[in-house]
Amino acid sequence: MLEQFRQMLNDCIRIGLAENVTSLKSLSLKAYRQLSGYDLASYYKLCAISAATGILRNYRKAKRKNPHVREPYARRPRLTTCYGFKVRDGELSLPTHARKHIRIHVNQHTQAMINGFTVRSVTLTEGILSLAYASEIQDVQPRGFIGIDRNLENFTVAATDRTVHRYDLSEATRAKAVYRDIRSHFGRNDVRIRREISNKYGQKQREKIQQILHHASKSVIEEAKTKQYGVAMEKLTGIRRLYRRGNWQGRWYRGRMNSWSYAELKRQIEYKAKWEGLLVIYVHPHGTSSRCSICGQKMVPEENRMLRCPSCGYVVDRDVNAARNILAAGTLRFGVVDLAGEAMVPEPASVRQSAKSMRGS
Ligand SMILES: [Zn+2]
Repeated sequence: MLEQFRQMLNDCIRIGLAENVTSLKSLSLKAYRQLSGYDLASYYKLCAISAATGILRNYRKAKRKNPHVREPYARRPRLTTCYGFKVRDGELSLPTHARKHIRIHVNQHTQAMINGFTVRSVTLTEGILSLAYASEIQDVQPRGFIGIDRNLENFTVAATDRTVHRYDLSEATRAKAVYRDIRSHFGRNDVRIRREISNKYGQKQREKIQQILHHASKSVIEEAKTKQYGVAMEKLTGIRRLYRRGNWQGRWYRGRMNSWSYAELKRQIEYKAKWEGLLVIYVHPHGTSSRCSICGQKMVPEENRMLRCPSCGYVVDRDVNAARNILAAGTLRFGVVDLAGEAMVPEPASVRQSAKSMRGS
């Protein structure tokens, strides 16, 4: 079934590329009849067409930036559907043909998580079942902000109430070192083998780092939720700062892993914040790491990652300074309800939907 879906998806992509269609409607008109040879319930055909539309849209966007980008092709079996399934009594029932179903056991943790929510879509791969569920969320009027500055080894959070927390991520760096040793034992000089091994260990490494980031992002969002604060982060996460020499990895690999873990932390914080109805804003990164967070002058680096302001004499840890600058930029842009409870920049609290996805068994 997964394999059939993958083939349908690739058929749709091929048709979309050949006919140069972009909209869901025109792709449906062109492709639907050509999928008649597949022996699967018809709503999977619609799901394949809609998935292909998304892939084609991303491809067009990428091609505008880079004309040499490869044409899309689905290699891994993966199926997404928003129709026909039922989750009941600890089981997911997924129709394959008319009146035929496959059943997948849903573990208790997952059952507890989706309890009270509506499951909107199901994604199935060879090893993982993901359920996406939606909830009505009431926006929280921010009473302040937390500013987050991320480094390779840690990230620093500065809040409106002047507290500062640092979250250690060096465990994630250590995880990398362990997997590096394993990988270096494979010496075969074949690009394909190297890539495969690198992918396999890369996957484990990603899962390990993901876990560490989940712990950290969870406690940050709990702090923000308790204080009813919005979250401010840098718009561009300073990928350039990551390309440092003298590290063990190849440039390509290091850059890819680091920028992935940057983006992953941002993604986790953003969706967890939205799930709680907290405001998330991005500020321009210009000067956040070099300007004084008190007077705005350019600072001078001192020993031990400290900075000194020649104008006002402020001496501060550079990460704390950056987090405070991000906090200040966020506060300036959006305004907050001050501590007396008076709204400086009132924003209408609207009910918004946010989808959160999780993994089941
Ligand atoms: Zn200063």
